[in-house]
Amino acid sequence: MKQTLLAIISLALSMSSSIQAQDMARRLHDAHDTYKEKTFTHRRFKHRDIVPLLNALKTPLSVSQVGESLEKRSINLVKAGTGSTNVLLWSQMHGDEATATMALFDIFNFLSAKNDGFDELRQAILSQITIHAVPMLNPDGTQRFQRRTATDIDMNRDALRLQTPEGALLKNLQQTLRPLVGFNLHDQNPRYSVGKTGKQAVVSFLATAYDEDRNVNDVRQRSMQLIVGMNRVLQQFVPGQVARYDDEFEPRAFGDNIQKWGTTLILIESGGYLGDSEKMAIRRLNFVSILTALKAIADGSYRQERTEDYQAIPENGRALFDLLIRNVTLVREGRSVTVDVGINRYEENLDSARAFGYKSKIEDIGDLSTFGGLEEIDATGLTLTPARLYSDTLDTPASLRKLDLAALYKEGITAFRVRQAKKDTLPTQLVHLLVDGKLPARPLQLGQIPTFLLRRGNRIEYTIVNGFWNHDPISPIIKANGIAE
Ligand SMILES: [Zn+2]
Repeated sequence: MKQTLLAIISLALSMSSSIQAQDMARRLHDAHDTYKEKTFTHRRFKHRDIVPLLNALKTPLSVSQVGESLEKRSINLVKAGTGSTNVLLWSQMHGDEATATMALFDIFNFLSAKNDGFDELRQAILSQITIHAVPMLNPDGTQRFQRRTATDIDMNRDALRLQTPEGALLKNLQQTLRPLVGFNLHDQNPRYSVGKTGKQAVVSFLATAYDEDRNVNDVRQRSMQLIVGMNRVLQQFVPGQVARYDDEFEPRAFGDNIQKWGTTLILIESGGYLGDSEKMAIRRLNFVSILTALKAIADGSYRQERTEDYQAIPENGRALFDLLIRNVTLVREGRSVTVDVGINRYEENLDSARAFGYKSKIEDIGDLSTFGGLEEIDATGLTLTPARLYSDTLDTPASLRKLDLAALYKEGITAFRVRQAKKDTLPTQLVHLLVDGKLPARPLQLGQIPTFLLRRGNRIEYTIVNGFWNHDPISPIIKANGIAE
């Protein structure tokens, strides 16, 4: 009887603290704009863009240079708080995964604010924890907006050999600070689904394994408990769109080794969010979930969480296509064939990796009924035919401005030959440019740039150009036009 009563009391306590956490997360989410580092308007900022921000940080934050990259860019540690528990956070170990770097600066702004209704939360965190954060651990990769370091080594496979100065620095920080908790902040393929739901994974978490058998000790259990709390608060903003990353042990990776070296490791993967290519919504979710976790570390409330609730988070599922065209008819050798077409749009760096365009690809053809698409076209009754090439050759892409593209689209003309085109000056119009050569005789081949028409009889219903279609709003960001090789 006594035990039941205690259990009920403890359940009630844990429910009230989880309701408080939900409410606090909602308030943080709503107030994010106040703390948002305004200079980040897209993901391709560089090391030189964060240096002045670091120099301008105010109390209670302090900054020190703790190392440098191979190409001698400074790597800095931001410190805040006076608590006895050390927490280490690092972002952009992969140079093209910038979402959490933005969120860390938002958190720095939050920590140095006051009289905004959050003083109690700030005080709770800063009195119990000492925060150590490395925003942009791989500045050379960031310069190129690429995953790897300047040596072309993936730092996240260098935790044992430590051949990259950046990787050696991370290990050194873990070994000297001995943090209770480490946050390993990444971006994942935006096409992961949540389990089999077909919903896009906006954020995925992982309590990284520290051995092949994926055992759970106290250190890893704490990761699971903290993730349960973060998942719960995120569900109110993106219901059903949080997943769990695969926990297969990777002996060369930092997350796995740091968990093994005794620091509770939390992997946060920023995924995709439809219509938000610069990931500003996910940046806000990082801000909310990291502060939620810091609060739970500070007051120990994570101890009430159950690891079963971690296991219940669906795993990352099979990748979705950016565009899935279902049931389209194709005529080959005089025969009608019905296929689905899976298309992905890949970012290509432009303007010294400060901007980007897309180069799309026909990823799969056939029965794709077990897959989903972030966008889908039901092409039942439609026939796939080649796009048409404009009869004249243009001097440069700028000449497109003189043409009535809408009228040409109606005739199925979406491809244009140009005498010269620089990669960095791609047009903003939705067209397929050809510098040399012609459109392929067969419009539907694996690996090819998806440019074709979907017709009902003679009427063109959809114009597909470089994986985008005519119903897409043309964004001011370059919808790049794969220049066919
Ligand atoms: Zn990564």
